[in-house]
Amino acid sequence: MRPMCRCFKLIRHGEPLVDTQETLREPAAGEVVVRIQAAGVCHSDVMLYDGYVDTGTGRKIDLSRGVAAPRVLGHEIAGEITELGAGVSGLKVGEKVVVYPWIGCGTCAYCTTDRENLCSNPRNLGLQLDGGFSQYVFVPDAKYCIPAGNLPLEQAAPYACSGLTAYAALKKLAPMQPSQTVLILGAGGVGLSGVRFAKYMLGIAPIVADIDQAKWPLALEAGARQTIDPNDADASKALVKATGGGVDAVVDFVGTGESFAYGFNALRKGGKMVSVGLIGGSTPVVPATVVFKAVTIQGSMVGTCGELRELLEIAQKGVLPPLPVQELPLDAVNDVLTRLHEGRFPGRAVLTP
Ligand SMILES: [Zn+2]
Ligand SMILES: [Zn+2]
Repeated sequence: MRPMCRCFKLIRHGEPLVDTQETLREPAAGEVVVRIQAAGVCHSDVMLYDGYVDTGTGRKIDLSRGVAAPRVLGHEIAGEITELGAGVSGLKVGEKVVVYPWIGCGTCAYCTTDRENLCSNPRNLGLQLDGGFSQYVFVPDAKYCIPAGNLPLEQAAPYACSGLTAYAALKKLAPMQPSQTVLILGAGGVGLSGVRFAKYMLGIAPIVADIDQAKWPLALEAGARQTIDPNDADASKALVKATGGGVDAVVDFVGTGESFAYGFNALRKGGKMVSVGLIGGSTPVVPATVVFKAVTIQGSMVGTCGELRELLEIAQKGVLPPLPVQELPLDAVNDVLTRLHEGRFPGRAVLTP
């Protein structure tokens, strides 16, 4: 008798996920079955649910092709291994793992050099393959199951996307000097992880800009040195003055036209901005200012499987401030997606099926 599996499926973009019960299939050769104990809800789940990114120019980037419905969304997954397909070695039933969801084709130049997150033919969990808003997930290969060690699973799950995204972005700034300045834009789920990691990874307490002052206390708790309102022109002028001409580094966890422009303008000469956020919008960039300021702008898209292993090892040392998570039952998923859509969810929502 196979176990039953309850999951929430995207049937049509923009409509609530559908509560579904089905018999769990047998694992195929090489697959690992994980009983999900924690599944983080990410802002990108909201975009996948909508099926598009709004560029703010009247044009929408279609995401619906990436997610063929019906699909179980959710890509921040941690749980316990319950079954191993034929030929799987190196893992045990009962082991607690975090699942790397950014799985590629396995054969291209990116996939064969541990950059599966850049693969053009992805098999990402929660996008092209069924993901975490479920009681079980099928992981295509044992190498994507990373031991959670001593980490509580509701803390461990968000490392797979929000944590990894922040880690890979900050890694692009390392090494920095303690006298330098880092400006983090956005104190949502991913931005907060960036704030949590900055002190350990860069040796610097970052300045955090967020238009929502309700998020400031969490940012300060996570290790921010100062919080500012990017809409407050005086505060921005004061920031440039206090840093003697601008900050050395910016990580834009927001990804609107406004946030990009704000970060770009806050950079000092020779500074570096890492773009991470995907909220949407656009902004003109004057090429001459890129030249005169001699800045570097780099994009960062989630992270590699190797980076997730590194991050989980660091987290197990207990050196990172905990992520403020709110645990909720699996059937709260539609409500959480709605609240995230409205931008009113402090910290990270983690479903505990
Ligand atoms: Zn995500
Ligand atoms: Zn590939």
